Amino acid sequence: MALLEFTESGIYCPIADIYIDPWRPVERALITHGHSDHARPGHQHYACHHDSVNILRFRLGQEISVTGYGYGETFLHRGVRFSFHPAGHIIGSAQIRVEYQGEVWVASGDYKLEDDGLAPAYEPVKCHAFITECTFGLPVYKWPDPATVHQEINQWWENNRKAGKVSILSGYSLGKAQRLLHHLDASIGPVFTHGAIENMNEVLRESGVVLPDTRRVTADINKKEYKGGLVLAPPSAIGSAWQKKFQPFSEGIASGWMALRGARRRRSVDRGFILSDHVDWPGVNTAIRETGAQKIITTHGYTSIFTKWLLEQGYQASAESTQFEGELNEMSEADNSEKAA
Ligand SMILES: [Zn+2]
Ligand SMILES: [Zn+2]
Repeated sequence: MALLEFTESGIYCPIADIYIDPWRPVERALITHGHSDHARPGHQHYACHHDSVNILRFRLGQEISVTGYGYGETFLHRGVRFSFHPAGHIIGSAQIRVEYQGEVWVASGDYKLEDDGLAPAYEPVKCHAFITECTFGLPVYKWPDPATVHQEINQWWENNRKAGKVSILSGYSLGKAQRLLHHLDASIGPVFTHGAIENMNEVLRESGVVLPDTRRVTADINKKEYKGGLVLAPPSAIGSAWQKKFQPFSEGIASGWMALRGARRRRSVDRGFILSDHVDWPGVNTAIRETGAQKIITTHGYTSIFTKWLLEQGYQASAESTQFEGELNEMSEADNSEKAA
């Protein structure tokens, strides 16, 4: 019996009778992070990193049963040892380490190797089997230095301010928005937030996350007050009537997909910034090597091409179909938090 297996409900540890990021309601669920394709409603009991507890309550309901753990803290269930380790993806994100009789598996959830200054940086965890996403598992995806991208964003904002335009910058409401906010140069002008993002900011601030000052976009703000400002908005707000009040404006989007030619045009925005919370091609290869694992299971993204590549490298690799959606889902973000605006 494998330590972890893939069932129609999700990644399953049969010895402990526990699931990781299950997509069908189960009794016990360990959750890697708060994005809606990983943290789904309906489970009887949730466990996650401390910093994900309030995110889960906010998204799934205050009444859910949820236990928080620190990074590296271990707990036993039916003789299986579990622990959460930094994944560097978003605040509260964790890889889940599973150990039984000397055998170690790691389910990484979503992760990236760059330190974004907000979520604790990814830490490689030694294991025999590594379950990995490969959202951007093709050589064409190689991220530019994030510090340079943040400079470009601030420069774009400054240029817009000088041209008398409001800057609308879009990124998904949990993770990307706070990462962008953390690196904005507040000396350029005021920062405003769409309700879906501000609601998430409030949840995170209550959990002790320090974020720069923001002002929620409301109907009673005078149009003049937006002048020279930057508005953080979720991708779903692009092209919506909600934006009219900011005219004239320039619109930018921050996503890994901006590395693809034509992606910016298809989203009909003025600027695309290549910034992702998922590993790129060099990153996923580095991560796999550093785990020391021989057995690699790919779950979402370019699974078939990437698995073929791993087999050629001598790994014992396979692809499993899951209901994780990668950054595609996070770009459209058709979940409830969006409707709170
Ligand atoms: Zn995610
Ligand atoms: Zn995901």
